Order: sequence, then C-alpha cells, then structure tokens
Amino acid sequence: MDIKEIIDYLKAYDGKKLKIMEVCGTHTAAIFKNGIRSLISDRIKLISGPGCPVCVTPTAYIDRCIEYASKENHTLLTFGDMMKVPGEKGSLSEVKGNGNVNIQIMYSPFEAIDKAKANPDITYVIAAVGFETTAPAYALMIKEARREGIENIKLVTALKKAIPALQWICENQEDVDGFICPGHVSVITGSRVYEPLARCYNKPFVVAGFEAEHILAAIYRIVRQLESGEAKAENLYKNAVKQSGNEKAVEVMEYAFEEGPAMWRGLGIIEDSGLYLTGPFSRYDGGSRDLYEDMELPSECRCGDVIVGRMNPDQCPMFGKKCSPMNPFGPCMVSSEGACGIWYRNVH
Ligand code: SF4
Repeated sequence: MDIKEIIDYLKAYDGKKLKIMEVCGTHTAAIFKNGIRSLISDRIKLISGPGCPVCVTPTAYIDRCIEYASKENHTLLTFGDMMKVPGEKGSLSEVKGNGNVNIQIMYSPFEAIDKAKANPDITYVIAAVGFETTAPAYALMIKEARREGIENIKLVTALKKAIPALQWICENQEDVDGFICPGHVSVITGSRVYEPLARCYNKPFVVAGFEAEHILAAIYRIVRQLESGEAKAENLYKNAVKQSGNEKAVEVMEYAFEEGPAMWRGLGIIEDSGLYLTGPFSRYDGGSRDLYEDMELPSECRCGDVIVGRMNPDQCPMFGKKCSPMNPFGPCMVSSEGACGIWYRNVH
C-alpha cells in the first residue's frame, strides 16, 4: 500500500472513535510539523505520552541539583533543557541569575572527564536525566572515570525506563487504544520488549520512525489491527530498530546501573522504572534515590493530565496565558520534547 492509499484510508475512516498515543516528544513534534492530524479522520485522536524525560522529573531532583550547585568546590553540569524546569527554590536558570552557584551547560557527559582531570579540587556533579536512549552514554562515561581513577565526579540520576511507564498507562488509562512506540528508545531496547505488553493488554504497539510516512504507516497499522481484532507489536522502523535492540548498549547499561523505584511526575512512583548506579559505581552516586517529592504546581496546571494524554495542552487553562515557553509553570512547557512547548510553538 502506498502513502496516498494510506492517507485515503485514514481520512475516510469512520469506525469506532480511537485514541492513539505517540509516546515520545519527537513524534509529537513530527506530527505537528507534517500536519498529520489534518490527514486523518477526526475519529482518530492522537494524544501525547510521557516520553519527555525532563517533563516527568520531580521537583526534588531540581532541588538536589541546586544544593550541589550551591556547594563550595562543586560545579553542576547539565544539558540546557533542564535549566528552566521549576524546582521548589526556583529553576537552575533563576538561581544562576541570582549568583553564588556554579552551573555549566554540557554538550556531552564525557566533558566531565576532562574537567575533573584539569580541576582536581572541584567535584563535578552531572545532572543525568533521560531514558534508555541516554543511559548507556552515562554508563560508558562513569566506567571511563573509574578506569582512569577519577574521584571528583558524581552523578545525580533521573534515568528512567520507558517500558514500566507504558505498562502504567495500560493499567491506568484503559481508553488508549494503541501506541506509537518511542523510536529512539526502541533503538536501544529493541522491538521485542513490546510483545508482552501487546499480549497482556490486548493493544497494538507499533515502532515507527520520524518521517511523515512512517507515522502515517504506524497509525494505519494500529487502526487495521484494531479493526481486525489483533493486538501485536510491529516494527516499521527496521533500518534503525532491531528486534533485540542494541545489545552492547544494554549490556553496558546493565553493568553500571540497577533498577529501582522512580518518581514520574503525573504518574507517581513506578517500581523498577529508575536506573541507579550500582556495584563499584555506587560511590559516584550523588544521592539519586528517594527523590520523590514533587512540588504542588498551581491548581490550574494540568501537567499531570498532559503527561499521560488525558488532556491536550491547549485544554489547560494556563496554556498560552500564564504559562508559555518564556514563563513556564510546568516542565511540559520547558523542554523541547515537552508536549505543551511543542503545542505552543505550533498552534499559538
Ligand atoms: Fe502545565 Fe503549562 Fe502545560 Fe498547563 S500549559 S499543563 S501549566 S506546562
């Protein structure tokens, strides 16, 4: 079936109303960029999922990062997308503006190795946030730090596994009919990990790339599966995603990290969804466990509903009014992968 036939089919669809969740922010952005909603029937609703790691990070994590940045002889290294996420005492960006903190933007976690060697009196604390996509890089970096005998590096981790969150959604959001699986995460985990979910919850899980035709093909396969009463995992992104994933990346990740409970904003604590330094690497951990506290967001803020696709961002009463990328109230508006930020840039 060519792409025109797929679009014709999806546009003409007039069956049962469906909710399809695109789990990762890169898919959300691609859906807007390519006007995918205008190419499919109104009866197929696309909703965003919890696939933005910054958006699901609780405020206690930001507060821990600020503590380190304020400590004498400590420097916090972070990717830029964490800077505006609000914590109890403000965002990293705000405290940096007020002075007396040491925060540097990094472009790769490996920068910490050179910095730590050049400045042995300073402890470099890395804000390590991400999913399976980024966890292997942190694992390799800390392995290298240990090999070189570097002691002045610490990681505060908010590294999470996507599959337990998908399971949480299947358990708690029965109205989601099918999933477009996160493409980048699937490169690491492989497509096989979705098979038990599809079987257990009787829902289609389709791995897709980020081009318009990839996403449309994934929606088509989900709709067709639902129409024929099927529920299976399919991989439409075979040039990047193997069934077994990137085994070397998984191996290094499992060597450096162990699973434990983690707090997901909007979802709560999910068992075995967090990755924490383990074994000989534990001494590099900067207190990453038990960061469960989440600040009360303003009562009108609907981040918790947006993160799990119960609500579109523009249904939040603060969207585009009190909350915008220049003045974000919730993390979903801050990150380039966050649903509110993506909606703001595209519909406002
Ligand atoms: Fe939260 Fe702002 Fe999104 Fe509303 S628009 S859900 S306040 S981030």
